[in-house]
Amino acid sequence: MKVIDHIRESKGTQVSFEILPPLKGKTISSIYDHLDPLMEFRPSFINVTYHRSETMFKKKADGTFEKVEVRKRPGTVGICAAIMNHYQIDAVPHLICGGFAKRETEDALIDLHFLGIDNVLVLRGDAAKNESSFEAEPDGHAYAIDLLKQVVSLNHGIYLEEDIKNGGKTNFCIGVAGYPEKHFEAPNLDTDLTHLKAKVEAGAEYVTTQMFFDNRKYFDFVKTCRAMGIEAPIIPGLKPITNKKQLSILPKVFHVDIPKELSNAIMKCKTDAEVEMVGTEWLVEQSRELKKANVPVLHYYTLGKPKVIWNVVKEIV
Ligand code: FAD
Repeated sequence: MKVIDHIRESKGTQVSFEILPPLKGKTISSIYDHLDPLMEFRPSFINVTYHRSETMFKKKADGTFEKVEVRKRPGTVGICAAIMNHYQIDAVPHLICGGFAKRETEDALIDLHFLGIDNVLVLRGDAAKNESSFEAEPDGHAYAIDLLKQVVSLNHGIYLEEDIKNGGKTNFCIGVAGYPEKHFEAPNLDTDLTHLKAKVEAGAEYVTTQMFFDNRKYFDFVKTCRAMGIEAPIIPGLKPITNKKQLSILPKVFHVDIPKELSNAIMKCKTDAEVEMVGTEWLVEQSRELKKANVPVLHYYTLGKPKVIWNVVKEIV
């Protein structure tokens, strides 16, 4: 079932989770171990992130270095299929522009379609670790909207090979990312939202937000989106803080603010267990307020912390 249909058919706020593929070398049981405890909350869907390969320099026996491409977390498509098969819950693979040629994207979409996966979250992806800013592949997409348009074309049966006439139509429900605190590359929120509006007008059916720790940021974002004519459901993305280092890492990596009240409370903690308690309580309060405001879905970034998410969601459902 499509994410948009889950939203349309539900009377109240639903719950969904996002997971990362495990590091290469682990088996699918690590995914089930992660998700099993969360299944009692009957999530409407589970997102699986996509991680592009990284360029690394591997030392050879003669002391010189060899440049190698390493994908540390492969398996997004397979994990989605496994989740749907194992739990009968819809899976949402993330698709990115970075590292992909259009033809590879088309093949991935065909695989997803054959597997009965009809949801995708389309993203640009960040710059590769060895690049200072995002660089599209020579035959790839520069922005999420370009990838989105490729998925929309395939939904109309239009393939890259021009000699495919009357091509079979896929049926993807497409989600995109939104940033209540602005995407870090955008010169201002207005410009960023103009690009978000273009993604929705091009066929995105819903928006999932970057994490935020102050609900005001989300409510203001939704209000501004509506004022600009962006009517698609906006799913809040939520993450707990579980250690002190995140006070500097999260703003640096995700370009989000941490409210003073929360950072002060965390700074007073003596152990990570205490931080986890503060982070959990904060997320419970955030979730309660968002649920009261009737948000369509509470989307939790589980990021290796299923127990913390379990502790939060049990207070909400
Ligand atoms: P875009 O929508 O392409 O926007 C990128 C920037 O370009 C923005 O500043 C925007 O304002 C600007 N822009 C957009 N269109 C245009 C245009 N036509 N002309 C000029 N400027 C334009 N990354 C991963 O690698 N894997 C994941 O699985 C993943 N999952 C994510 C899930 C969520 C919910 C979110 C919020 C982010 C996720 N990311 C993921 C990170 C994401 O890839 C980065 O934030 C990336 O930098 C931007 O992606 P985007 O899809 O928002 O890009």
